[in-house]
Amino acid sequence: MRVSVIGTGYVGLVSGACLAGKGHDVVCVDTVQQKIDQINACTPPIHEDGLAELLRETVGKTLRGTTDLREAVLNSDISLIAVGTPFDGSEIDLKYIRDVSRQIGEVLKDKDAYHVVVVKSTVVPGTTDTVVTPILEEASGKKAGQDFGTGMNPEFLKEGEAIADFMHPDRIVIGGNDSRAIAVMDELYSVFPGVDIVRTNPATAEMIKYTANSLLATLISFSNEIGNLCAKVGVDVVEAMEGMHLDKRFTPILPENAERVWPGFITYLAAGCGFGGSCFPKDVKALIAYGENAGAPMPLLNAVIQTNTKQPHQMMDRLRSHIPALAGRHVTVLGVAFKPGTDDIRESPALTIISELLADEAVVTAYDPIARHEAEALFGDRITYEDDLKQALNGADAVMIVTRWPEFSELPMLLNGQTVQPLVIDGRRMIPKDSVSRYEGIGLQPAVS
Ligand code: NAD
Repeated sequence: MRVSVIGTGYVGLVSGACLAGKGHDVVCVDTVQQKIDQINACTPPIHEDGLAELLRETVGKTLRGTTDLREAVLNSDISLIAVGTPFDGSEIDLKYIRDVSRQIGEVLKDKDAYHVVVVKSTVVPGTTDTVVTPILEEASGKKAGQDFGTGMNPEFLKEGEAIADFMHPDRIVIGGNDSRAIAVMDELYSVFPGVDIVRTNPATAEMIKYTANSLLATLISFSNEIGNLCAKVGVDVVEAMEGMHLDKRFTPILPENAERVWPGFITYLAAGCGFGGSCFPKDVKALIAYGENAGAPMPLLNAVIQTNTKQPHQMMDRLRSHIPALAGRHVTVLGVAFKPGTDDIRESPALTIISELLADEAVVTAYDPIARHEAEALFGDRITYEDDLKQALNGADAVMIVTRWPEFSELPMLLNGQTVQPLVIDGRRMIPKDSVSRYEGIGLQPAVS
């Protein structure tokens, strides 16, 4: 099947490469020439495990990149829209969705063959039917459901595990209003035999995505709220959570003493310095605004955001309780990416922490195994960057673990024997609390209060 993917960011590029890997004939479109050049040279513009290999397997065969949207739409049967849908401060910003819909519509005006346009971006319920379809109809002068089809197909991949998630989806959600468009989407996903397909209308497909993201964000803020209480009353949140996880309602145990199966959502039930990334913060805020407009305010989700906004400051409070005057003191921030496995730093708690450290005139060193360049692009020479974990610890008065990169578990070993021991503030509770001489952890009673 000939597929064009419009918007070649985290979702567009991973979707395009995976669909090409599954044998479809895919063209990825972006306005940024450099991204397209990189894709065509098999050099991924983003970091995802397995992506470089997939590009090497597919580019020049079933995958190519272009900045020419017209050519891509004319030479494909289906277009997936995967552009960004940021939060503009008061509601979801559909500018990129509108722009692309108009551009595709103008091409459809000149295209005789049937074409299906699918929204893959995360958009609030109603967007496909009341924003995208009318723009396509107006720009093309044609009728949806008759001359061309539209649909909604939300993406559930997790950055850091994006290729594996796309290649082995839990379910595929297809939202459509007309059977011909749905049949084309079915054909697109026929390369994933055996996977559950949810067929529904576009608004429900749009809502499924927000429901999933809002629940996961809620689990995190819930854990953080419990963690903050634990820290106040002298309970270790890690022990509290572990005891809670063992509840069979959360952790099914298979018959005949088979191994305990830990459901994936348990990883979201852990206290830390907050969620970030390009999805949870903006999606929860967009849903709150959407609910408000729809006459269904969402106080629970408002609280999820409030708790999350405060969470990076919990780490700063711990730091200041030990070092009240940070000016000139050396602080090492471990991890800038919003989560391990990615170079994405959008809305990462590290950004808040580094900004606060700079405001207090601390001397900041950052180490991230993958996201150094992204951090440099943002903070420039206001902080220093190291390419080696051990090097990053040199001369630090304090070390703040912000991202759960597995290599940070080596910290106790690296600090062992060092004459001057830095204060370690563990924002992810990833090293044992007695493994370093000066330890503070989220959800643990402060050593200094
Ligand atoms: P992104 O910012 O990484 O990528 C968007 C891309 O679209 C950019 O490369 C941009 O240059 C391109 N673009 C913008 N306008 C264009 C145009 N007119 N023509 C061609 N290209 C254009 O965004 P992302 O993280 O991939 O997210 C895309 C959508 O998918 C969002 O709605 C997001 O909420 C959703 N989503 C993201 C994730 C994730 O983990 N990142 C997961 C699921 C869903």
